[in-house]
Amino acid sequence: MKHQPWGESQPSDQMALDFTQPADAPGHPGQLSLWDVGLGRVASAPISAPAPAPAPASAPAPATPVTAPVPDASAQLDALRADALGCHRCGLRDTCKGVVFGEGDPRARVLLIGEGPGQVEDDTGRPFVGAAGQLLDRILEAVGLRREEVYIANVVKCRPPGNRIPTPAERAACRPWLDRQIELIAPAVMVCLGASSAQVILGDELRITQARGRWFDYNEIKVMPTFHPAAILRDPSKRRPVWEDFKKVKEALGS
Ligand code: SF4
Repeated sequence: MKHQPWGESQPSDQMALDFTQPADAPGHPGQLSLWDVGLGRVASAPISAPAPAPAPASAPAPATPVTAPVPDASAQLDALRADALGCHRCGLRDTCKGVVFGEGDPRARVLLIGEGPGQVEDDTGRPFVGAAGQLLDRILEAVGLRREEVYIANVVKCRPPGNRIPTPAERAACRPWLDRQIELIAPAVMVCLGASSAQVILGDELRITQARGRWFDYNEIKVMPTFHPAAILRDPSKRRPVWEDFKKVKEALGS
């Protein structure tokens, strides 16, 4: 079956990229072969009846929980989302339509972290649903991952005006929301999409062009920095390195 996971429903010529496995990649050119990527009292008994087994003098009482059940990650994420939607910690909330908290499987093994919402994301309240998001969906599909089985979030939850890079102060203000998402989801792998995300997780000195494709550790979570899908839309030559980086993510997850 012909498989063109990254190429068929491009919204523009700029996105008309062929994201099948690069023809010169190892393996099977044009195919995705790597990813195919309980005591009752003893009742009185007749004298002649066999003596019943004596009840223990002090049988253990049934265990009763001492504390209330701990809400699962999904419920805690829902509560966190409800809190975040009312956030006004930084000025970005004054110019956006709403907080884009993130979405996906609360128990995802992969957490994708982008920079911030764009216009379509601000309009819909969902992360990565614009042109870059559609490309991200195809990248995921190409390595055998479905959007529904990952979790997608951003460094800042409100759209910066004009899609500008969020300032260090804005990133710092929004950091507690992301930190709590990471804590609750507890992914095996995090993919930092773009420089802002990688710098927030791995340090301000990181350069995405040098760090992409290498594994880092963040509190025992494997971290893969790579280019933001929007960077591929601007510069199609970045598609191959992103492809290679996501193949490493798939390999790290195993089958
Ligand atoms: S960007 Fe983050 S910190 Fe700033 S208002 Fe939005 S949710 Fe709050």
